[in-house]
Amino acid sequence: MTVSTLTPPSVQCPECGVHSIVEYKPTVYHCLKCDFEKDLSLSPEPKNAGLGSVILGMLGFSLGLLILL
Ligand SMILES: [Zn+2]
Repeated sequence: MTVSTLTPPSVQCPECGVHSIVEYKPTVYHCLKCDFEKDLSLSPEPKNAGLGSVILGMLGFSLGLLILL
């Protein structure tokens, strides 16, 4: 019987290239070898930014309509 870990050592560290990335928190990945850390919750999502600009555009469009009416 082998003791299975929560996270399989399949994720390769972009810093040292060793497959030692563990899921430190639900959104944070940590390398046991070189202390590399990646917080997914902090990384900006361009999808949201695009959506934000679309919403802003729609708001501006509706405001323009309101002014015209
Ligand atoms: Zn590393």
